[in-house]
Amino acid sequence: MSAPLPLAAAPPPPPGLLDTPDDDFRAWLAERHQPPMRAGQIRRQVFANRAESFDTMTDLPVGLRAELAASFALFSARVERHLKAGDDTHKLVLRLADDRMIECVLIQDDGRATACVSTQVGCGMGCVFCASGINGVVRNLTVGEIVEQLLRLRNLTRREDAPPAGRPDLPTRLTNIVVMGMGEPLANLDNLLEALEVAGDPKGLGIGARHVTISTVGLPAKIKRLAEVGKQYSLAVSLHAPNDALRTRIVPTNDKTGIRAILEAADDFFEKTGRQVTYEYVVLGGLNDRADHARELGRLLTGRKAHVNLIPWNDVEGLPYRRPKDGDLTNFIDTLRRSGVSVKVRKRKGSEIDAACGQLRRRAEAEASATVTAAGSSGDSPAGA
Ligand code: SAH
Repeated sequence: MSAPLPLAAAPPPPPGLLDTPDDDFRAWLAERHQPPMRAGQIRRQVFANRAESFDTMTDLPVGLRAELAASFALFSARVERHLKAGDDTHKLVLRLADDRMIECVLIQDDGRATACVSTQVGCGMGCVFCASGINGVVRNLTVGEIVEQLLRLRNLTRREDAPPAGRPDLPTRLTNIVVMGMGEPLANLDNLLEALEVAGDPKGLGIGARHVTISTVGLPAKIKRLAEVGKQYSLAVSLHAPNDALRTRIVPTNDKTGIRAILEAADDFFEKTGRQVTYEYVVLGGLNDRADHARELGRLLTGRKAHVNLIPWNDVEGLPYRRPKDGDLTNFIDTLRRSGVSVKVRKRKGSEIDAACGQLRRRAEAEASATVTAAGSSGDSPAGA
């Protein structure tokens, strides 16, 4: 009696083109007797012509296109969900090659197109109000996975040759990047910086450092490193409370760092780069939105060239927080302004598809696993698809 044949393992997916080092790619071309200029042609196709598959690269020989498609994934993720709001905000949930999910957002407003990208699967910082960190961090995103988010979002902007369907202000390229998606950017700083180099390259996406904002929970040593890379990135620090006792309740990592070290690192960033630092403050009803908190925040920040961005909390299913009452928010703003601090409230974009950062992914994951369970247990076709 012969043993049952082992099931053939699925072949590993081809490596992502955006994560293939230039030298390796040139060597791959050389092995196929292709001139090195092919690398530049392909790059142009992806970055300038918005190609999303090798098939459409009609300036390449057909045989080469087929070989490329067999050897590389142009994009290594798939779009799991694509939601578009009436104000032309787009949200994408991407399923990565290892089936993990992340999300990214395109915000189009005032002639700008801003990409909000993730840097990690999940997040290890554990801020108590945030959906991204509920299950901790799984892994860092690769350079290619960060660049892919930018490309996919850019490809949703209006094409040069498309008429501006009712909205002539819609840009035809990405103008800004905010690194405010899932994850702690400074915990994946090397990959992020490399991805931002690609974004800044005129042969890449041509988005200069001044148009890039990196948001951090506040990791002092990493903020100092960022100050030393010699780029004009903007820094946003998630403060969320005016004193250590309260901040540690809201941002558990504060226990190890403390506000003082974060402010010192941010001051150092300002001195080295000349870039004003933004302090983000998620306003949680009844928790950090009292006039006393605003006064204390004012004292902390006066004398600093700083700006405060207030973000009324976006509801996250299952978390016991609430948005501030309108009157409390207004009072908070007025109190803070009286102490001389510049302050703005972040506008809510894409509100009908608004799932606070990380929520959409959780929903997609929950539904995907419900689908697997349903299919696995009853053999039914996927429910709710
Ligand atoms: N880890 C980085 C990036 C996080 S996302 C950081 O801590 O800055 C960018 C901003 O959105 C952060 O200030 C974060 O605290 C905030 N945020 C996360 N979840 C939110 C929610 N449900 N409502 C409002 N703001 C939220």
